[in-house]
Amino acid sequence: MNHLTPDVLIVGGGIHGCSAAYHLARAGVKVTVLEKDWVSRHASGVNAGGVRLLGRDLAEVPLSKVAMNLWQNLDDELDADTGFRRRSLINIAADEQDMNTLYARREKMHAAGYQHEIIIDQQELRERLPHVSDQCVGGVVSESDGYAIPYQSTKAFRRAAERNGAVFVEGEAVDSIRKVGAHWQVKASKNSYQSEHLLNCAGAWADKISVMIGDNVPLTHSAPMLMITTRMPHFATPVVGAVSRPLSFKQFENGTVLIGGGSKGFADRANNRTRLDYKKLAIGAKNAAEFFPIMKKASVNRMWSGLEAYMPDNLPVIGESVNADNAWHAFGFSAHGFQLAPVVGRVMADLITTGKSDFDLQAFRIDRFERKVL
Ligand SMILES: Cc1cc2nc3c(=O)[nH]c(=O)nc-3n(C[C@H](O)[C@H](O)[C@H](O)COP(=O)(O)OP(=O)(O)OC[C@H]3O[C@@H](n4cnc5c(N)ncnc54)[C@H](O)[C@@H]3O)c2cc1C
Repeated sequence: MNHLTPDVLIVGGGIHGCSAAYHLARAGVKVTVLEKDWVSRHASGVNAGGVRLLGRDLAEVPLSKVAMNLWQNLDDELDADTGFRRRSLINIAADEQDMNTLYARREKMHAAGYQHEIIIDQQELRERLPHVSDQCVGGVVSESDGYAIPYQSTKAFRRAAERNGAVFVEGEAVDSIRKVGAHWQVKASKNSYQSEHLLNCAGAWADKISVMIGDNVPLTHSAPMLMITTRMPHFATPVVGAVSRPLSFKQFENGTVLIGGGSKGFADRANNRTRLDYKKLAIGAKNAAEFFPIMKKASVNRMWSGLEAYMPDNLPVIGESVNADNAWHAFGFSAHGFQLAPVVGRVMADLITTGKSDFDLQAFRIDRFERKVL
């Protein structure tokens, strides 16, 4: 095939562009992925690798549940090592108020027919996490959750897509997009491309691509931060979060502990750069040590952040353009898009090849914030 004139042109070589390319190519569709830097350079390569169903917005639960099933056998499907480990995820309750939050959430989840979040008491919390602070009173667990290695997972989708015929062009920034007749004409830094379908997976830059297509979207971008310790004695098998504090960490098999929690540094999107906010990182480290006194002995080895796309309601945009035919969007994952990638790629392939999806995508429409003109 001539990669300059594919059936589908995907803008963005993050995990969502790679997953969509894989599902499309496997369905026999000719796909080219344009990536301005290199595949996995941004959020998809530097995230915390959390594969989390626990605590999802209700609108995302159906997608996230299917994604979680896909993760369990993803290595076999992609014939690669994504680094996925099923470890369970526990959100810790620091006090009775947190427990009340969990009871209220349980009611909401049960009413919606979801049973995967199980509340645990103090004794069980201690059995699962023997090093947790005595102050903590319980928590909630999702057994199927775990983590994967972000760069390996994104690469696994890319390689599987390539084996099925998809072409990836790196160092190829999309500069302009216009529709001529039934085709999209795309000018990028090195070449021009023409395709029937266009898929916007441009992450923190997706609002710019949306405007080129003809859709406005209130996307913002930010720079969530992470830090990792040197190796420590093994003390935590589950992935750990907290009900009401900005805490999240996981201990890898080599003993290192990755600490997140959502605090944000400074984003410089125009220059592809981020800067750390050390004060906020220190708070994250303090929280970890408060919940797990053993962490007082930890030495932080490295800190970093990545550029991530956020929507005002923290839900992604998944679905069709509202102003142009044969244009599609999958972006705005608001710091929890890694887990969703296996299913969203499949959804995009279904939409493009059949015009339909098994999922209700209303909550993810690109125009959900627009005031309706009567
Ligand atoms: C520090 C951090 C921790 C996180 N932790 C988790 C976690 O534990 N679990 C979880 O589920 N999620 C997590 N996330 C979120 C997750 O990483 C993202 O939601 C997900 O990777 C988004 O993937 P993407 O493919 O949409 O975007 P990206 O990975 O950002 O890919 C978009 C790509 O589009 C390219 N692009 C943009 N504009 C153009 C253009 N004009 N031409 C060509 N290419 C272009 C960019 O260069 C980029 O490579 C975290 C994110 C960060 C930053």
